[in-house]
Formats: sequence, C-alpha cells, structure tokens
Amino acid sequence: MVDMRLTDEQLELQSLVREFCEKELRPIAAECDRKSQIDPAGCFPIEALKAASKMGLRTLGLPRGLGGRDLDTLTHCILLEEVMAVEPGFAATFHQVWRLSQHIGREGTEEQKKKYLLPFIEDDTCLISIGQTEPGSGTDNTFPYRGVEGGIQLSAVKEGNEWVLNGTKHFVACATLARIFIVVGRTDPRAPAPEGATQFLMWRDTPGLRIGRTHDKVGGALLMNAELILENVRVPESDVLIGVNEGFSDRARHYGRGAPMVATFGLGIARGAYEAALSHARKTIRSGKPLIRNDAVAVRLADMLTLIEATRSAIWRAAWGSDNREHYVQRDAAISSYFSTVCARSVCENAMHIFGKDGYTRGFPAEKFFRDALMTNHINNTVDVRLLKIGRSLAGQMVSTL
Ligand SMILES: Cc1cc2nc3c(=O)[nH]c(=O)nc-3n(C[C@H](O)[C@H](O)[C@H](O)COP(=O)(O)OP(=O)(O)OC[C@H]3O[C@@H](n4cnc5c(N)ncnc54)[C@H](O)[C@@H]3O)c2cc1C
Repeated sequence: MVDMRLTDEQLELQSLVREFCEKELRPIAAECDRKSQIDPAGCFPIEALKAASKMGLRTLGLPRGLGGRDLDTLTHCILLEEVMAVEPGFAATFHQVWRLSQHIGREGTEEQKKKYLLPFIEDDTCLISIGQTEPGSGTDNTFPYRGVEGGIQLSAVKEGNEWVLNGTKHFVACATLARIFIVVGRTDPRAPAPEGATQFLMWRDTPGLRIGRTHDKVGGALLMNAELILENVRVPESDVLIGVNEGFSDRARHYGRGAPMVATFGLGIARGAYEAALSHARKTIRSGKPLIRNDAVAVRLADMLTLIEATRSAIWRAAWGSDNREHYVQRDAAISSYFSTVCARSVCENAMHIFGKDGYTRGFPAEKFFRDALMTNHINNTVDVRLLKIGRSLAGQMVSTL
C-alpha cells in the first residue's frame, strides 16, 4: 500500500517553514549572496537564524523529550525542500543542525546530551559542524578504501583518560559560526580509515582548536564552510561519540539516512529555479503575448517540471526506505542523490535560458540557483561516486551506507 499524503504534523511544519522562508529569507537572499562575494566570512544573516530559533525551527531534529520533533528522514526532506527552493546555503545550514543535533540526541550518552544539547537549546545562534574532509583526503573517506595510507590523517592519540588531536580539516559546513564540533580523527593508523576512525565532540573554545579561513565558494555561500585547525587538542574519553574506531560505522553514518536528505539539495534548488522561471514566463510579454505561450518555452518548463517530479518521487521512496529499515535499499538512495544533481543542473540551466540575457546577469535569480546547484556535485560524496555505487550494486558489491 502506498500512501503519498502528508501527515498533519508534516503539513503543519511545512507551513511553518514556508512562513519563515517568505518572511525572513526571501527578502535578504540576493543581498547576502552579493555580500558573500566581498566577504565570505561575514555574509551570514544571524538575525534570520535567531528568528528561526524563536519559531522552534533550529531545534526540530532534537528528540521530542528535549523539545524537538525527532524528524524522520522523509519529514526532513519535505522541510528541507522548502528552504532549498528559497536560499540553498541557509537551507543546508538547517540540514546540518537538524541532522547533527539528532545524531547527538540519538547516539550520545546522557552526559554528552547534558553537556552539549542543553546549551545548544538555550543559545538561539548555536550551530553544529562535523569535520571529516581534509586537505589530503575526501572521497577516500566515503568510498570504501582498504589501504591504510589514505583517508583521514588527523591523528588522535590516547594519553591517560584523554585523546590528543592534531591535524587540519577543511570545507567544514557552518564552521565559521558553529559552537559545537564533531571531529573525525584517526585512532588506529594501522587499520583502513573506515575501521580506524573515531568521532570526537568538542566546544569551539576548546584550547588548541582554531577556525581557519572561510572558503570562498561559487555557490551555497551561507553554508559558511571553513577550515578547522587542531593543535594538541585534548578531548576527554567521555566525549568520544558512539565508540572508538566507530567513526564510520552504520550508527556514525546515521544508517544511510543522509543520502535522501542530501538528494533534496538538488530537488529544492531545481524547484526554486523552476518557480522563478515559471513566474517570469507568465508575466513577461514578447511578441504581444506572455513568453509561456511560445511552445518552445512551455516545453522547456514542462521538461523542468517533469524532472523535478521524478526526482521528488525517487527521494521520497529512498527516504521512506531509510525510515523503514527493513525496506532500505542503498541503491535507491544513491539513485536519488545522483539523479537530483542531474535534475538540478538541467533545470537551473533551463531557467537561465528562460530569463534570456537577463538570466546571465547577477540581477536575476536564475544564475544564483545555477551556482548553488553546483554544490550538489560534492556534498557527502561526489556525483561520480554516487554513480559508481549504483554500478557496483549492479555487480553485486555493497558499498558504505552513505
Ligand atoms: C558545499 C560543501 C559542503 C561540504 N560540507 C562538508 C562538511 O560539513 N564536512 C566535511 O567533512 N566535508 C564537507 N565537504 C567536503 C565533501 O565531503 C568532499 O568534497 C567530498 O567528500 C569529496 O572529496 P574531495 O572534494 O576532496 O574530492 P577528491 O576525493 O579529491 O576527488 C576528486 C575527484 O576524483 C574523483 N575520485 C576520487 N576518488 C575516486 C575513486 N576512488 N573512484 C572514482 N573517482 C574518484 C572524485 O569523484 C572527484 O571527481 C563539503 C563540500 C562542499 C562542496
């Protein structure tokens, strides 16, 4: 039995998120993007984050016992799409804070929840980051790699009841502003990274932890990716999340819940570009009639909408599988995240066509969505790796749950 109706709670949250987007995000999105081109570290709209907190949106991922909604994967995707269609960088910030607060809420010890989540709830501007990628490692963390010389190199060495961490992370989402960090370190250099890495919790003001430059990205500027530099950072054993050498275990990777969520990036961005193009085509008059009355324009929009609908179906199916583990199919998740990137690229380029020459300027929304869409090539793992995962599954080989 397939039931595609949203629950009352999903509809309620969707309408709350839409209200936030229209009131707080849409009016400032273009200005923040312009600012980011001058000052990548100084463009984040902190007042919008405070407003989101007041509406209860920042903490939606938390367990219900802590005042959140413990979002399931499908609900996460439904809400994320709404924000992505308006401001993708800010949406990705929500994605991080929802999934990481939920991660600590589900996998953390009682002591960790008290130490990190209670202050997180109190501070309207508190964000959470996870640092995995390093200047010398990326794909070899997310695509099974059996050698010991690749993957995470940030070292974590045990000294008494503490771990001492040294190394550099980069591209860490929200790191410019985040107060709580999950850092993945190599605890067993003799084992391949998937079996020798551990997640460590720490506060931003931990001695030895420094935030480096904010990356000057082409799109998704409000995601505030930055470097993390760790020099003799001492972390107590009690701040090991999940377990030593379990930094890439199924629990650490949220049991594959991440792929449909990340696939929603492309879906939402495509929807935003499509809606802008549709509105432009309906109200712009050329040759005495609205643009959309030209078949070539209408067919282009039809192609865009078809891709968006197909992508949403693939994502919702994968999300449903993530929420009903016995039906989880890793290939479905990889298909959804691969296809959403294809969709975003195609729809955003078509949107630029529909705006004509204006689509090629910074004064209209199409080019920003196009730049934001490129972010989907790299999030979690690359678009090529998603395709490889589908191919390998056809050859009967399972790969990681991401
Ligand atoms: C917007 C954004 C947000 C991000 N957020 C975070 C974050 O919060 N935390 C974090 O830790 N990281 C984050 N990242 C980093 C992201 O996880 C990495 O970019 C991703 O894992 C790929 O690694 P890489 O970019 O180093 O590519 P590389 O590993 O250097 O790969 C380069 C190219 O080679 C290909 N390639 C590499 N190895 C293989 C292989 N074995 N088989 C086939 N092809 C291969 C890749 O597909 C790619 O095309 C973010 C990146 C972006 C762009």
